[in-house]
Amino acid sequence: MKLYEKTAVELGAMLRRKECSAVEIAQDTFDRIDQVEDKVHAYLTLSRQEALAQAEKVDERLAAGEELSPLAGIPVAVKDNISTKGVRTTCASRMLENYIPPFNAFVMDKLEAAGIVMPGKVNLDEFAMGSSCENSAFQKTANPRDLTRVPGGSSGGSAAAVAAGEAVLALGSDTGGSIRQPASLCGIVGLKPTYGSVSRYGLVAFASSLDQIGPMGRSVEDVAMLYSAICGHDPMDATSARREYPDFGKTLSRQVKGLRIGLPKEYFGDGVDDGIKELVLAAVRRLEKEGASICEISLPSTDSALSAYYIISSAEASSNLARFDGVKYGYRTKEYENLIDMYERTRSEGFGDEVKRRIMLGTFVLSSGYYDAYYKKAKALQMQIAQEYAAGFEQCDVMMVPTSPCTAFRLGENMDDPLKMYAADICTITVNIAGLPALSIPCGSLEGLPVGLQMIGPRFSEETLFRAAACHEMLQGGPCAVAELH
Ligand code: GLN
Repeated sequence: MKLYEKTAVELGAMLRRKECSAVEIAQDTFDRIDQVEDKVHAYLTLSRQEALAQAEKVDERLAAGEELSPLAGIPVAVKDNISTKGVRTTCASRMLENYIPPFNAFVMDKLEAAGIVMPGKVNLDEFAMGSSCENSAFQKTANPRDLTRVPGGSSGGSAAAVAAGEAVLALGSDTGGSIRQPASLCGIVGLKPTYGSVSRYGLVAFASSLDQIGPMGRSVEDVAMLYSAICGHDPMDATSARREYPDFGKTLSRQVKGLRIGLPKEYFGDGVDDGIKELVLAAVRRLEKEGASICEISLPSTDSALSAYYIISSAEASSNLARFDGVKYGYRTKEYENLIDMYERTRSEGFGDEVKRRIMLGTFVLSSGYYDAYYKKAKALQMQIAQEYAAGFEQCDVMMVPTSPCTAFRLGENMDDPLKMYAADICTITVNIAGLPALSIPCGSLEGLPVGLQMIGPRFSEETLFRAAACHEMLQGGPCAVAELH
């Protein structure tokens, strides 16, 4: 087995037994990148020199006998909407094509302190708006499990890099499903953490009340370890929760005896592929055999959630993206007649179609005369969705549903039909609307394409999600394999 095929836990053990060095791990990752990147196109920026320097430092510290974090020396790819000091951060937008941040996101400071190695920054839908990675202004990323298909989005670059063995772990961000849906389509594990558990400081804002950074990897334990490294209170983020977190990697159990699993019936009706439903239910039955119990529950507002999500997220996006005006950051048009003309041209040239669509929709639903009819109603629905979840969690500890209504679609297939693209989020968005944690893990495949099982818990129940997912992973025979890509 090559180094790039191993999990972070395995590599960490090898490093400590001196069976390999951090520099060798980094080198092996770059060799793999050189071998497959022209097929996958996951990376927007490679930071080879910086990564090797980080790895050398880890080797020196290990040689000096220092006790390092379990993530020291592990290659972690970072979604390109997370601010990295001195390394270009584009949000896959022309607007920020040459933007080099003068500061690190909170999570990057944490990961650097842990001694991770960052091979580079990975592709996404522009400003994280999309479900296929095709809205990137720079390149289309392919799904390593089938190169004719999308990797999902918006964290498609993160998922593809991990599935292809071009990174051991990755950070994504999830506003309406952007970690879980690509994890599902690429056959890896991804966690959207509880809102407020991971600081958003330095995450370029899309919809601030929904955005959350989270970990992606090929095993539950790896993902738990990365989550432990990035969660925690941050005074720089006013929505950051003040609480203590256990070391999720260390406390990981695989016991589901007595766990109450809820199956919300709305996720098993029309609109979700029958084969996907069967695989999800089969996985749940395997957990039942291990001692979990199953009950049916109902989340009646699921159907209207898509409209609420696109109203709330676009409203917030229209406000957040107002800062890209040709003055403060990034792109400015070449020729203009006056200030207003400069703003208009800069924004017309700097943003892609999907981003413009969201800004227009968001501005519309916030305008006086329409605010009550759309935004206010969407916010009322948000309350209702949160209440339905709370009622559901009186009957169960964790809900299990499909992550995506379909497997990876073909590149180009949904590009002319935004509504069809939006429907890809039907199984993931209510989680963000209610601020809950949810994890996606592979549960089999249909016609060779991975299918994801989504586990949703009450706020701050990550430990339960890891436990249920780890049991499922064990029953499936262990962590996900790297895609072969011949
Ligand atoms: N696909 C959803 C959207 O386009 C979710 C994006 C995300 O979670 N960042 O809004």
